[in-house]
Amino acid sequence: MFKAILIDKQDDEQRVELASLDEARLPEGDVTVRVECSTLNYKDALAITGKGPVVRRFPMVPGIDLAGTVEDSTHEAYRPGDAVLLNGWGVGETHWGGLAEKARLDGRWLIPHPSAFSPRQSMAIGTAGYTAMLCVMALERQGVTPERGEVLVTGANGGVGSYAIALLARLGYTVVASTGRLEEADYLKGLGASEVIDRKGLSEPGRPLAKERWAGAVDSVGSHTLANVLASTRYGGTVAACGLAQGMDLPATVAPFILRGVTLAGVDSVMRPREDRLEAWRRLGELLEPGQLDAITRTIPLEEAIDEADALLAGRVRGRLVVDLS
Ligand code: NDP
Repeated sequence: MFKAILIDKQDDEQRVELASLDEARLPEGDVTVRVECSTLNYKDALAITGKGPVVRRFPMVPGIDLAGTVEDSTHEAYRPGDAVLLNGWGVGETHWGGLAEKARLDGRWLIPHPSAFSPRQSMAIGTAGYTAMLCVMALERQGVTPERGEVLVTGANGGVGSYAIALLARLGYTVVASTGRLEEADYLKGLGASEVIDRKGLSEPGRPLAKERWAGAVDSVGSHTLANVLASTRYGGTVAACGLAQGMDLPATVAPFILRGVTLAGVDSVMRPREDRLEAWRRLGELLEPGQLDAITRTIPLEEAIDEADALLAGRVRGRLVVDLS
């Protein structure tokens, strides 16, 4: 038997509970993992609360990230005792995920656990930090260098935002953080932001073009915020868009693209090819300090994950939540 968060739906009503499940119920897969740590991402909170259409099959164990040890494997790359990491691939959406003491997975989804981190640290990073790294890589690929000027991070107090600030600052960029929680300015400056601005200035409908300010941006917010960020991006700049915390819509015009040559770089972490994942985790290992991970993270037991999902969606969680399953 193993403990897991289980989401079920009957007559259009979703129920979530902490369940004790028989291992025989684990889904198909060639690698069985004893999960040591998982984490609570925005997407997991949507799944647990039922506030977003994340879960595609019921019953479902949520959890899009996990770090653990291989218990059993018929996959050629993995043996019992190997430390492994998983981010995405639809786990926690269509396949039982990491908010459980055990998971059975397709070995092709796994990567060796990065040696730079403990399982707690890799889950402190999780999909949020890994996505922030992919966003930074997208800016780099478009030639946004620190010399080009200020880089904006929206949703700054969130998981993606917090890591984007830390990574960009470490790489020498001048980072401006946009947040609805100005009282957290000291935390954001501690991560490396040189200036903190009120998100109100970006979240209302704006003009097609505004004063040019950003050489680049990492946006986890979408909607009017992304439209305004595009409108205020400097000639030739790039915006890496990965999130929809404000909304899925994009009420923008083509003006920034056709008059200022701005690039909108979409970033997906879920189906990302293995090579990019390995590169992203290698670079995270080079760039992040263990002390920084502690400042960004709070650890909770599995029992608290259901309540924390509400808090996360209500914007009351700062940084990252690690779920300890060891
Ligand atoms: P968090 O909940 O940790 O952070 C989201 C942040 O967005 C909040 O902390 C808040 O920052 C800001 N925010 C929330 N609501 C609003 C609003 N109504 N208007 C403006 N800003 C708002 O989530 P994550 O960092 O984990 O994820 C951020 C987004 O990125 C989510 O939409 C998520 O689904 C997406 N994502 C996408 C991935 C991909 O593969 N493309 C991977 C990972 C995440 P503050 O309080 O500082 O204003």
